[in-house]
Amino acid sequence: MASAPSDLANPKTTPPTLLDERGDDLGTHRVKSPARALPQPAECVDNDCTRLFASEMLVDVHTLNVDAASFRQMEEASPEGADGVPKAVLATIAARGKQHNPVTGSGGMLLGTVTAIGREAGGRGVAVGDKIATLASLSLTPLSVEAITAVRRESAQLDVRGKAILFRSAPFAKLPDDFAERVAVALFDVAGAAPQVARLVKEGDHVVVLGGGGKSGLLCVAEARRRVGASGKVVAVENHEPYAEELRRLGLCDAVVSADATDPVATRDAVLPALGGHREADAVFSCVNVPGAELSAIVLTRQRGVVYFFAMTTSFPRAALGAEGIGKDVDLFIGNGFAQGHADHTLDLVRASPALRALIDARYG
Ligand code: NAP
Repeated sequence: MASAPSDLANPKTTPPTLLDERGDDLGTHRVKSPARALPQPAECVDNDCTRLFASEMLVDVHTLNVDAASFRQMEEASPEGADGVPKAVLATIAARGKQHNPVTGSGGMLLGTVTAIGREAGGRGVAVGDKIATLASLSLTPLSVEAITAVRRESAQLDVRGKAILFRSAPFAKLPDDFAERVAVALFDVAGAAPQVARLVKEGDHVVVLGGGGKSGLLCVAEARRRVGASGKVVAVENHEPYAEELRRLGLCDAVVSADATDPVATRDAVLPALGGHREADAVFSCVNVPGAELSAIVLTRQRGVVYFFAMTTSFPRAALGAEGIGKDVDLFIGNGFAQGHADHTLDLVRASPALRALIDARYG
């Protein structure tokens, strides 16, 4: 049994067929292979947006915010650099039904307008016509893209004409009134980072952020600054000199070290003096977009300190065996992209710092 919805935002869009079948809130009904997988680890999902299960929402997609590690990998793998990214994205979606980079395993998130809500997908505070950003990874979101119309390398964003399906379990956020859409979506992409700093860092701590000049790095630095107080220290490591310079001008760090975080010895030798020379950090956050920074993070952390790997480029064996190999009893955290209230937390953090906000607006707006 199926019927067409009556409340579509854009009357020119062909409405999907609304199915009575509920589907699974976790989205397993869309998994094509392998059998019994959840959509995120699945090899391939069904991205047919002409049919909508009762627990699903349909979104007209305007912008994809590709995960930084994924964007960089596609850029480096293409002879055309950033211009080759659209081709890689279209190939991934054609093969997998979702933007799930087969090399990095990561996705990103999207900005779009809700165009249909399944019969059992209501009650989530959103209506047809609302603009939303997804807070669940593109690596699990069924996505169909007709055309890519713009590429913005700085923010790893692509403007597209496409459609996506949101499962009932997938978090999303309505766009705030006081941020440009592109900026909000850029912040939501890394909204899981700052709340974790707030949980793990306390007054007086010494904190290091690897990749501190990038998007998530800036948020971690800002959150760390307000947590450690005057008695603590915040040191950032950044190898992209323009970003390092912008971070210095922001004045949130006790030191911004220009170093390559994939070189643990050079990073240690540059960072320990900046921490005061006599102690390692209480907490290190890895926010780089390249593989190979695990050992720098571990070397810089004191015994029983905390290493938080937000970077999608992190390797579990490199981190676990690396810590063991140098006798470091540190708590290793995997960066969960979701934390309760993370979107509001991140927007409030940026609202609280006009200088940070100006930098983020200029870079990602
Ligand atoms: P970003 O804005 O590209 O920031 C990364 C920064 O690290 C850039 O400034 C980059 O410089 C710098 N960097 C690269 N290589 C370095 C090196 N060897 N030494 C020191 N700095 C280096 O990326 P982002 O959006 O903040 O994302 C950061 C990481 O978080 C990525 O790995 C991304 O995949 C991951 N992520 C995780 C989640 C999660 O849920 N855990 C969610 C979103 C993103 P360049 O300009 O030279 O690249």
